[in-house]
Amino acid sequence: MSNDHSFETKQIHAGANPDPATGARQVPIYQTTAYVFRDAEHAANLFNLAEVGYIYSRLTNPTVGALGERIAALEGGAGAVCCSSGHAAQIMALFPLMEPGRNIVASTRLYGGTVQQFSNTIRKFGWSCKFVDFDDLDAVAAAIDDDTRAVFCESIANPGGYITDLDAIAAVADKGGVPLIVDNTSATPYLCNPIAHGATLVVHSTTKYLTGNGTVTGGCVVDSGQFDWSATPGKFPSLASPEPAYHGINFHEALGAMAFTFHSIAIGLRDLGMTMNPQGAHYTLMGIETLSLRMDKHVANAKAVAEWLEKDDRIDAVTYAGLPSSPYHGRIEKICPKGAGALFTVSVKGGYDACVKLVDSLELFSHVANLGDTRSLIIHSASTTHRQLTPEQREAAGAADNVVRLSIGTEDPADIIADLDQALAKATT
Ligand SMILES: *Cc1c(COP(=O)(O)O)cnc(C)c1O
Repeated sequence: MSNDHSFETKQIHAGANPDPATGARQVPIYQTTAYVFRDAEHAANLFNLAEVGYIYSRLTNPTVGALGERIAALEGGAGAVCCSSGHAAQIMALFPLMEPGRNIVASTRLYGGTVQQFSNTIRKFGWSCKFVDFDDLDAVAAAIDDDTRAVFCESIANPGGYITDLDAIAAVADKGGVPLIVDNTSATPYLCNPIAHGATLVVHSTTKYLTGNGTVTGGCVVDSGQFDWSATPGKFPSLASPEPAYHGINFHEALGAMAFTFHSIAIGLRDLGMTMNPQGAHYTLMGIETLSLRMDKHVANAKAVAEWLEKDDRIDAVTYAGLPSSPYHGRIEKICPKGAGALFTVSVKGGYDACVKLVDSLELFSHVANLGDTRSLIIHSASTTHRQLTPEQREAAGAADNVVRLSIGTEDPADIIADLDQALAKATT
């Protein structure tokens, strides 16, 4: 697959060669657990990472592998590993970098589930997270200490309206000698390429726009292949020292730019087992074929709906970076020139009660804990996804009581607006 092809071509062809056994043009669903070794020597080579091939589908599978190759191509990465969900991808991204006692520095503006995962769950591994306002570059730099092993943010941050200045954050991470991990779920590689802005790792919930139709959960970690894991001896021992979990191999020495990806497969998937299944990979491969077409329509619709809402006097505020009134409008040209995505929040006059009435009165919109579907979706974050956060965390995450999050679908924008109009009438009287 030529690297010269454009995004629109790669989203259809990358990773998908005709099936070597049958010539099947579409990527077959390799619904198999194991693969027959040619002979004992072949088996030994595979286990020694001396030869690339298939052993067992907890580690690798041709359908899942095709998806990883495609996402790596679209993100401009050296390699990628797919896994069972976006949250699995986040753990998989941290796993090769971390040890007990190490920390990460993360933006306060994150998907609610990620705040939860980083606040509490990772502590079970002896890891911790410092949350910082990523508009305050000095604070980000000050938070990086000797135990920090990554900086983490979202490109277009959930629940919407905030765009991270990736180049500035990447420069701070670089100075601190740690990789920048960017969750690119809300933007997709079509709207934003974090690696081009200095990211080392890109994580995705493929559950969202990449699949695009609300059918399967999945995740992916893409590695730029550009971080020097050996720069400071002993800093990233899993990648650049003899790894006891894989008979003492030094992944960086042995595999160079593919060190992170091979570690994630050979140890991450082997021992954590958060594997994507081939059926799920198939749905996501189908979805990605139309990614650019859908994202252009998502962006156009989101703009139309946001502009209409901003003029409506039942609404207090619309936080869409695609609106000239947004304080983050100026970052679009640099970070996501094709548009600011289709995810934003709206402050409704009448507060909590009006928001609850609004979600109950909508007919075309679905009230769900999801985003990035072809269907328009809404959620009142304060009473759902963000309810386990403190009021301060909710406020910081843009999920206050009077706020609903919209994920604008690809329906006719006139129908989307008409539905909001009738539901707002019921919610604010
Ligand atoms: C949904 C989402 C996640 C988590 O992904 P799952 O596939 O639900 O595990 C992480 N980050 C962002 C930005 C998301 O939207």
